[in-house]
Amino acid sequence: MTFEELGLKSEVLKSLQDMGFETPTPIQQEAIPHLMGDSSDFVGLAQTGTGKTAAFGLPLVSKVDEGKRLPQGLVICPTRELCLQITKDIQNYAKHLNVNVVAVYGGTDIRRQIQDIKKGASIIIATPGRLIDLTKRKAIQLQDVEWVVLDEADEMLNMGFKEDIDAILDKTPDHKNVWLFSATMPKEVAQIAKNYMDDPLEVAIGHKNQTNENIDHIYYTVSERDRYAALKRIIDFNPDIYGVIFCRTRRETAEVAEKLAKEGYSAEPLHGDLSQAQRDNVMRKFRSKNLQILVATDVAARGIDVTDITHVINYNLPDEIENYTHRSGRTARAGKKGESLVLVTPKEGYKIKAIERKIRTTFTKGTIPGAKEICEIQLKKLVNKVISTEVKENDIAEFIPAVMADFEDLSKEEVIKKFVSAEFNQFIEYYNRAGDLNRKQGKDARDNDRGNDRISDRRDRVNSRDRGDRDRGGDRDRGSRKQDENKTRFFVNLGQRDGLNPGGLLRVVCDAAGLNSSKVGRIDILASFSFFEADNDLADKIIKEVNGVEYEGHKVSVEVTKKKAGGESRGGGGHRGGGNRGGSGGGRRSSFGGGSGRRDGSYGSGGNSNDGDRRRRS
Ligand code: AMP
Repeated sequence: MTFEELGLKSEVLKSLQDMGFETPTPIQQEAIPHLMGDSSDFVGLAQTGTGKTAAFGLPLVSKVDEGKRLPQGLVICPTRELCLQITKDIQNYAKHLNVNVVAVYGGTDIRRQIQDIKKGASIIIATPGRLIDLTKRKAIQLQDVEWVVLDEADEMLNMGFKEDIDAILDKTPDHKNVWLFSATMPKEVAQIAKNYMDDPLEVAIGHKNQTNENIDHIYYTVSERDRYAALKRIIDFNPDIYGVIFCRTRRETAEVAEKLAKEGYSAEPLHGDLSQAQRDNVMRKFRSKNLQILVATDVAARGIDVTDITHVINYNLPDEIENYTHRSGRTARAGKKGESLVLVTPKEGYKIKAIERKIRTTFTKGTIPGAKEICEIQLKKLVNKVISTEVKENDIAEFIPAVMADFEDLSKEEVIKKFVSAEFNQFIEYYNRAGDLNRKQGKDARDNDRGNDRISDRRDRVNSRDRGDRDRGGDRDRGSRKQDENKTRFFVNLGQRDGLNPGGLLRVVCDAAGLNSSKVGRIDILASFSFFEADNDLADKIIKEVNGVEYEGHKVSVEVTKKKAGGESRGGGGHRGGGNRGGSGGGRRSSFGGGSGRRDGSYGSGGNSNDGDRRRRS
């Protein structure tokens, strides 16, 4: 099928030629002939990226009366970002027509928008709140509106715009046609169709609630404490990533973005605590690819239409499954391929199943790449960069003889090795220390993960693991249990898995507390946590200065351990389950094994307990 067969105006066909659109997409083929007709109520279930803007925009600009300067077409969409995008698209479609398209959205000076409307607007693209504002100020007349488009209707309802939408639909003439587009079809959207439409044509591209087939959905099972390290590995493994990381809260978004930026990644946050100007600035950088990674909340990222996004990373899954569809829809746009990656803990595995059921997609189980794979990829990138670097002979000519003389005694092989080491030693060292972050799913893993996730539980594992280590280590370790009375033993929340080694711990403690390294005694680095000793009189200083500093992206927490009958524990008192130390074990698990009901029903049944509650209780 060609665009010529769809009944569009010749001027619009000309714009399509200018834009290089050759063949209508499936939603355009289905929608346009119907929307060009007289009675054109319509429900289109289509994801972003399917060409839905043109599916309603092309007939809209073809149908409006060019001479008339009052609003005839009204497009309502959830966000300012999307509003501007649609306006730009529709202005392009109308390039050869005398049709004025005006955008009105919140967060900006309303007076200018009022002036724009006064100059004459045939089509208004609006966010719901601002449009209501304008009608209240009588700055906009809706009596001539013939077509109302509701774009991303499900998002608008999610964002609480139901009343505004009803009010707008009530204020427009009864004989208007309503064209509704939505990625998903919850009850509330169906209700709008029922209340305001007359026998609409319903077109679904793919299944209802199905996501784009060009997206590969992959999940990784990691323990809670490794979430950030796993994220970094994914990014390191994909050095050319151009992606969006989704977090659940503004705070988490800010933290993840800050940590990444501090560690040299090209990442910035996008969330509601930023001013509009800051958000615009971040988006400008991201669009122009001067920023590789956007760390965003669901709300802030709504309406982002950037075509080449390679990866969407769900740092934490959203509470509502439908938001997963919106998140993953940011990649694989305009026929491109993309990956939607999800980090889950073993006990969150059921959420993956729930999403699979809901969007009728199968997830692939991914493996967080190991040190060797990442180093290979990074080295390749470095080598490619060097090989493709342009040599500016004239600029460097005067320096080369001296440099050549310095390298005179080295063979080509030695030069290459040294150059790789100079660039790469730190990276390799970091990854040499890093273990496997992948965790198993299922009950056993779940039990383990409970241990991983909780400091309180870690203390128990100190006893059992430390015992295990001592047993393996024989007399050397057993001897070490006789703690010097003049020394205080500290518990540290990081271990080998966090890349901590004795040198690293020494550096962190001495730097933060301003100590000479001779002041720190024995150091024990275990898999998930560590211990060290220092003179008693330094205890307060160490607790005060070292707590909260960062080690390779992890916040360091230090506590004094107390030696008790059956082993050692963190100090601080009031610790639940303390009586289990020393080996009896058993009862400890029961304090959170009960699996209380989830508050949030959005992931269906599954009997999993609520992490949030559990964490708060602990
Ligand atoms: P949308 O689903 O409206 O967000 O469109 C996704 C992308 O596809 C946009 O960048 C459009 O410019 C592009 N697009 C829409 N329709 C076509 C078409 N028929 N041919 C080529 N590109 C298209």
